[in-house]
Amino acid sequence: MSNREPGFDTLAIHAGAQPDPATGARITPIYQTASFVFDDVDHAASLFGLQAFGNIYTRITNPTTAVLEERVAALEGGTAALAVASGHAAQLLVMHALMQPGDEFIASRKLYGGSINQFGQSFKSFDWHVRWADDITPAAFEAQITSKTKAIFIESLANPGGVVMDINGIAEVARKHHIPLIVDNTMATPYLCRPIEHGADIVVQSLTKFMGGHGNSMGGVIVDGGTFDWSKDDRYPILTEPRPEYNDMVLAETFGNFAFAIACRVLGLRDLGPAISPFNAFQILTGIETLPLRMQRHSENAFKVAKFLQGHDKVAWVSYAGLEGDEHHEMQKRYMPNGAGAVFTFGVKGGYQSGIDLVSNVEIFSHLANIGDTRSLIIHPASTTHRQLDDTQKAAAGAGADVIRLSVGIENAEDLIADLEQALKNI
Ligand SMILES: *Cc1c(COP(=O)(O)O)cnc(C)c1O
Repeated sequence: MSNREPGFDTLAIHAGAQPDPATGARITPIYQTASFVFDDVDHAASLFGLQAFGNIYTRITNPTTAVLEERVAALEGGTAALAVASGHAAQLLVMHALMQPGDEFIASRKLYGGSINQFGQSFKSFDWHVRWADDITPAAFEAQITSKTKAIFIESLANPGGVVMDINGIAEVARKHHIPLIVDNTMATPYLCRPIEHGADIVVQSLTKFMGGHGNSMGGVIVDGGTFDWSKDDRYPILTEPRPEYNDMVLAETFGNFAFAIACRVLGLRDLGPAISPFNAFQILTGIETLPLRMQRHSENAFKVAKFLQGHDKVAWVSYAGLEGDEHHEMQKRYMPNGAGAVFTFGVKGGYQSGIDLVSNVEIFSHLANIGDTRSLIIHPASTTHRQLDDTQKAAAGAGADVIRLSVGIENAEDLIADLEQALKNI
C-alpha cells in the first residue's frame, strides 16, 4: 500500500466504507433495523456502559449511518461525526451539549432564516439566549461576549446573502475567550471550505442540501474538530461532570478529542431522539460520492449565470462572492479558492411584485424553498423563507423586498440563462 494521504475526491468515495463483511456487497448496505442482537449478557453490559463500541438501537448508532459519519468526519478533517435527522436537529444537539439554562451564545445575523427562528424563538423555551453580532467583523462578535457566553455560531458561506465570513478572525476571538466556534458549513460544503482548518471547533451541516445533493433526503451532521479543551474550566458540565447513567464516567476524560461528538450522541441523541433513517443515510452517502464534481459544476454555472444577470437591464444588483469586485470576493479567494458555490442573490428592478412575477415565469428553475439540488431552484425570500421576519430582520438577513435567491443546478448553463432571460422579459 502506498503511504499517500488520500485526496478529497478519493475520500468522498471511500472514506468509512469497505465491502460488507457479512455479504461482500460493494455498496454500503441499508441496515434497516431498529435493534441489534447482543453476543451475550456481558457484551450487552459493556455496550450500555460505554465500555465497548457497538450497536444497540438505531436511535443511537446504525452501521449504515456510521459509514456516513466517518465519511463526513474525513471530508471535514474532524475527529468524529454524528449524523442526525436534519440540519436543525444537529444545531439543537450541539447547543444541548453546550448550554445550561440561562446561558448565552453569539450568532451572526447572516444566517439561514430557519436558524434565526430556532435561535431567537424556540431556544428561548430552553432558557438559552442568542445575542446577535451587529456586523460580520470579529470585533462585533467580541463585543457581545459576557460571562454566560458558551458558543459562537456562524455560517462559513451565509445563506442567502453570499457572505463569506472571516472564520480565522472570529476563531481568534473565540480562542482568546475560550469559547468554541461552531460553523454551519452547509452552503460551502467541505469541498469549498474546511472550517476546522481555519479554527472552527465544531462544524454542523444540513446534509439535505449539497452533501446529499439530489433534494431527496433530509439529514444533518455534527463534526467534532477535536480542538477544544473542555476540561480547562467547569463551564461545560455535560462534558466534565460524572455521568451517573454511565458509572460516573467523565466524557471529556474518557473520550478526549472526540468527547463532544460522544456527548451529542450518548446524551443528546439518546434523550432528544432525532435519529436519521438508515435509508436517508444511504441516499446521502451515494450523493457524497459525486460532491466534488457537482460543487465544481455548481460553481461554474453560478458564475456564468451571475455574469449574465450583472449585464441585464432589469437587474439592479448581483451579490455573488465569485464576481470580481464583489464585496466578499477577497474573502472568497482566501477561504474558498475552488469556487463560490451555487447560491447567490440578486435584486430585480420593481421590488416585491417583480420578484413574485419572476418566480412565476421561470420554467426550468423550480420555485421552492430549498438549495443544493442538482436542479436549479429559485425563491423570493421576502414572500417565503423570510416572511416571518420583520422588515429590519429581513434587511439584516439579506432578504429585502427585491431580493431573488438562486441555487444554480448542474444543467447546461446556457439553458438556465435562456430561462432567466425569458422570465425577466415577461415581468
Ligand atoms: C437548510 C439549512 C439548515 C437547516 O437544515 P435542515 O436539514 O433543513 O434542517 C441549516 N443551515 C443552513 C445554512 C441551511 O441551508
